[in-house]
Amino acid sequence: MTDPDVLTRQTVDLLRDLIRNACVNDGTPDSGGEIRSVRTLEGFFAGSGLELEVVEPHPGRASLIARIRGTDPAAPSLALVGHIDVVPVDRDGWSRDPFAAELVDGEIWGRGALDMLYLTASYAVVIRDIAMGPFRPRGDLIFAAVADEESGSRFGVGWMTEHRLDLIDASFVLTESGGAPVGVRPSITTTVGEKGIAGRRLVVRGTPGHGSAPWGARNAAVIAAEAVGRLARFEAPVQITADWRHYVSVLGLPAELAERLTDPARIDDAVHELGSLAGFAHASSHTTISPNIMRAGEKENVIPSLATVDLDIRVLPGVDAAQVDGYLRHALGELMVDIEIVGDRFEAATRSPVDTPLFAALSAAVARAYPNADLLPVLSVGGSDARFYRRRGIPAYGFGLLSRRWDYGTFRMLFHGNDERIDVDSIALTVSALDFTVREVLA
Ligand SMILES: [Zn+2]
Repeated sequence: MTDPDVLTRQTVDLLRDLIRNACVNDGTPDSGGEIRSVRTLEGFFAGSGLELEVVEPHPGRASLIARIRGTDPAAPSLALVGHIDVVPVDRDGWSRDPFAAELVDGEIWGRGALDMLYLTASYAVVIRDIAMGPFRPRGDLIFAAVADEESGSRFGVGWMTEHRLDLIDASFVLTESGGAPVGVRPSITTTVGEKGIAGRRLVVRGTPGHGSAPWGARNAAVIAAEAVGRLARFEAPVQITADWRHYVSVLGLPAELAERLTDPARIDDAVHELGSLAGFAHASSHTTISPNIMRAGEKENVIPSLATVDLDIRVLPGVDAAQVDGYLRHALGELMVDIEIVGDRFEAATRSPVDTPLFAALSAAVARAYPNADLLPVLSVGGSDARFYRRRGIPAYGFGLLSRRWDYGTFRMLFHGNDERIDVDSIALTVSALDFTVREVLA
């Protein structure tokens, strides 16, 4: 293997290029422009001998797949799946240019630094290093730099799962995210599952009228506002998962607080005591409903007869579509006479088993950096491309390895947040752990 410092420097340089490409995915088909980072990666792989393929299901929405063929076609294969799109920024909230990729005091700043360009860059460096060295994996090693993860993956892994599964299929998968040290020992978080997602729109109907005489009006905006308030106050039944219980057990909390955090009857009064982890604690134990887009009215002197509210609903394992619609009807109560619930998108929660050779290799990789640490399986409250694999029964984990300066609260806050950044020490730990893991699993 190449000098670890060299691999770290290569990853830092590649990461900075990927950040500067600013592949911002705002959810519209023509955003993203992932082709820019695909070109960067093609340049990075030039002369490595790697087999490359590029797909582009929509102009600019490109993904690149690199493969090293294993020596034994029957041996298990491993895919490293990294997205190259990033979410938009609120420039006013940033202390530095989010797309300049400045390196300051050992940290690289920029949108996507943590989510998940440092991992995508690390994967690329590891596979190129193996391609150019003497090690021959038994099974295939695949690297996929994919588009559109931040908006449902319909131009990325979702599209390839339907049309080009041959490119990205594998026996085991690594993707985002993980690696934050938790507790005193510490435990290193690894995402083994994620909540499911449901999409619903409330369509609210009122009666139009003149805005100069609002008394007694059936204003769709007012009804929608009441609906949003009720959904914000609604609490779905608490569900304490085995993963949440495990997570609480490693935090090193006073026994009395740990007990309340795992008691369905008392958790709601205890989550606020977790500070920056409170939102995560709540989302880990509830199916959540977040009203995120409201639309009503077109003219300031017309009482609107129509309003819509788009909901982001994240479901815990075991919750189905009928339960989601039941929660909505229950929360909205008699308002339902003016409201229609539209949409049927539903994807159940997914989880991979942890008794796999890949999980064992990750544990060994972590132990090299943190001798007393163990790997903590976490159920992510957000989504990732891992779900496309888990649904087909393929174990997929979110992995990374961060330095001691990180805690799980900060880690979560920087995802899609202001001043996103990653430190060079974490990049060094991650590249080294990935390199070790790939060689373990494919030896
Ligand atoms: Zn991500």
